[in-house]
Amino acid sequence: MSSTRAPLLAASRVAVVGAGISGLAAAYRLRTLLGPTAEIVLVDGSRRLGGAVRTVELGGVALDVGAEAFLIRRPEALRLVTELGLGGQLRYPTPVTPTVRAGGRTVPLPPRTVLGLPAAAADVAGLLSAPAVARVAAEPTTALCWEPGQDAAVGMLLRERAGDELVERLVDPLLGGVYAGRADALGLRATLPGVAAALDRGAGSLLAAASAVLSPGLPASGAPSPPAFGTLRDGLSVVVDALVAAAAVRLRLGLPVRELVRTPEGWRLVLGSAGQTEHLDADAVLLAVPAPALRRLLADPLPLASAAAGRVEVASCAVVGLALPLAAAQALPKASGVLVAASEPLSVKAFTFSGRKWAHARSAEVLLIRASLGRHGEARMLQRDDAELLDAVRADLAALTGITARPVATVVARWGGGLPQYAPGHLDAVAALEREVAAAAGLAVAGATLHGVGLPACIATADAAARRIAEYLTGVPAPAAAHGGTIGA
Ligand SMILES: Cc1cc2nc3c(=O)[nH]c(=O)nc-3n(C[C@H](O)[C@H](O)[C@H](O)COP(=O)(O)OP(=O)(O)OC[C@H]3O[C@@H](n4cnc5c(N)ncnc54)[C@H](O)[C@@H]3O)c2cc1C
Repeated sequence: MSSTRAPLLAASRVAVVGAGISGLAAAYRLRTLLGPTAEIVLVDGSRRLGGAVRTVELGGVALDVGAEAFLIRRPEALRLVTELGLGGQLRYPTPVTPTVRAGGRTVPLPPRTVLGLPAAAADVAGLLSAPAVARVAAEPTTALCWEPGQDAAVGMLLRERAGDELVERLVDPLLGGVYAGRADALGLRATLPGVAAALDRGAGSLLAAASAVLSPGLPASGAPSPPAFGTLRDGLSVVVDALVAAAAVRLRLGLPVRELVRTPEGWRLVLGSAGQTEHLDADAVLLAVPAPALRRLLADPLPLASAAAGRVEVASCAVVGLALPLAAAQALPKASGVLVAASEPLSVKAFTFSGRKWAHARSAEVLLIRASLGRHGEARMLQRDDAELLDAVRADLAALTGITARPVATVVARWGGGLPQYAPGHLDAVAALEREVAAAAGLAVAGATLHGVGLPACIATADAAARRIAEYLTGVPAPAAAHGGTIGA
């Protein structure tokens, strides 16, 4: 933030807009940095905290129906969980591995790829047809024109160089899981940053770039791989509850923020429904809302940042949870789940066999399963009522596993606009957005729109935004590490 102000003598008021993981982590970090006297108001249009983090109880067992796990190779989520005293709840996946359904067959998911991009054709031999494997094998022999810093659509680049089948059978199902998107519309630099960096450094092919990304992380031969993901025994909403308690915020829920206005003293939020608005004045504002809301809120005070947010499209998806009677669930394959290629005649894009993947996602009576549906640009898939979605999921489960038993409990969670699409040029759009926000005193942004959709990336943006606001309010540089201090300090 370029402008600084004299340290505030009286308690300052900060408004955090958006109570997803980003807004909550930011509010918590603000509390640790500003101490007990600051007034932190957390506003959300929904009456529920957590945004895309939501745990429900299904058949007596906790099931996450939004985000279900966090990457632990990045430190931010694990560090936050530990800092909140929740380390005892940490759970790692069981050793079972995922599968992929493509070309009418279900086979093991190739383990050694960068979101589907292999380092060697042999790594995808079990999944692709022989001609498609040969096409992948030939990729390094085709000259690659790559300017450092350039971007490209993942799908287009891969189709051109390594063939359609690799995209359709492997890359799309994996990217579809992370972004609810399609490889043809996602940008390499934002979704496969390590691959883009290796190409910038001069890797001569996509396979060589994948090899550069994969090699450093390989465990010594025979050593077990460290787990990539973790979750919490009672579900990720536990983090939401802990954050809101530790942040000691004033909650204003069920109040969408309609406008953001700059005032001589700071900022004014216009909240509420059209006929019933109210104002909230604040010394500083931290926006942690999805791209469409960012675009609307920044339109008047920061039109360039608003236009940049407008370049980020969002995808909708749904998660259907099933609690299967344990006896029936015995017939499930010994796999953590199945990713489904878009060309398969099925509605779901993935099943997670949660009770196989996580030991705590089953009980003596039930085993939980999660189905994911919906990809960017396929809105029709979700234009069905809950009963129809449930029927479609059960039909797909029967087709893939033979299991027809009636679940003892079910849940349908819909995520309208739940995942931003990082198109080619995404990082340029984010840089433009952040540049204008950085020049606006007392304003910061965080969230999945910016530098990664995963929970650790969201928490990283939240930490950075909270530090910028704290610096602005106190005139004192906030500590660089994520650990901002202890509450009340
Ligand atoms: C189905 C699904 C599965 C996922 N699985 C994983 C996973 O396993 N691991 C992982 O790391 N990530 C996963 N993700 C991604 C991750 O959950 C999200 O990127 C992350 O939770 C986003 O957090 P956020 O706070 O930035 O945004 P959100 O969670 O979207 O929160 C934004 C908040 O802003 C509020 N809001 C919007 N507009 C306004 C307004 N005008 N005024 C006030 N409030 C407003 C919303 O109500 C919402 O509460 C998944 C996402 C989805 C949808």
